[in-house]
Amino acid sequence: MLMKILVVEDEIKTGDYLRQGLSEAGFVVDLARDGLDGLHLALTDAYDLAILDVMLPGIDGWAVLQGIRRAGKDMPVLFLTARDQVQERVRGLELGADDYMVKPFAFAELLARVRIHLRRGSQAKESEYLRMANLELDLMRRRATRSGKRIDLTAKEFALLELLLRRQGEVLPRSLIASQVWDINFDSDSNVIEVAMRRLRAKVDDGFEPKLIRTVRGMGYVLEIAE
Ligand code: CA
Repeated sequence: MLMKILVVEDEIKTGDYLRQGLSEAGFVVDLARDGLDGLHLALTDAYDLAILDVMLPGIDGWAVLQGIRRAGKDMPVLFLTARDQVQERVRGLELGADDYMVKPFAFAELLARVRIHLRRGSQAKESEYLRMANLELDLMRRRATRSGKRIDLTAKEFALLELLLRRQGEVLPRSLIASQVWDINFDSDSNVIEVAMRRLRAKVDDGFEPKLIRTVRGMGYVLEIAE
């Protein structure tokens, strides 16, 4: 099935580059050079996904997104932001953006994200993901992301995070984690789990909000959204 993507980008080179790259990847692409044209297209045609630049002539990317959501259109929307606008991503995510990328970006990564969002939009493979807040585990691709940012995990860390996500909100004793993830029983004084958990927490929680992994002293670990 042909997938149709709307690109709203006023920078001539970036817009042409996106149109060409996405077309070569097999998508049907419409390109608008300003916010009003972009919103008009978004509301009058049916798109599977939209890629919006933030700073646009006419109305900006945020306003385009608001117009799209207000019209009840729920296609995935991916933002392109300049590096100095990154702190504004929170605003975009609150307005209903699904993802953002910082310019300059690698086209391969943009394409990968476009495909993930299209798959997610189709709902067909929903069960292949585990999620809490902005943490997502893609079980098929063995990939973890927070707010769309890739987190590199070892196989053990992935298994550990998968267990925590499957039983989110439950305090998991070390003995259970040892038997499920390492498939053996550790001596009670072994610190293998503590060390692995510390590394996992640094990757999953450092630099991200909300904090998700919590140590319950004397009991074990729980994945939950910190108050
Ligand atoms: Ca721009």
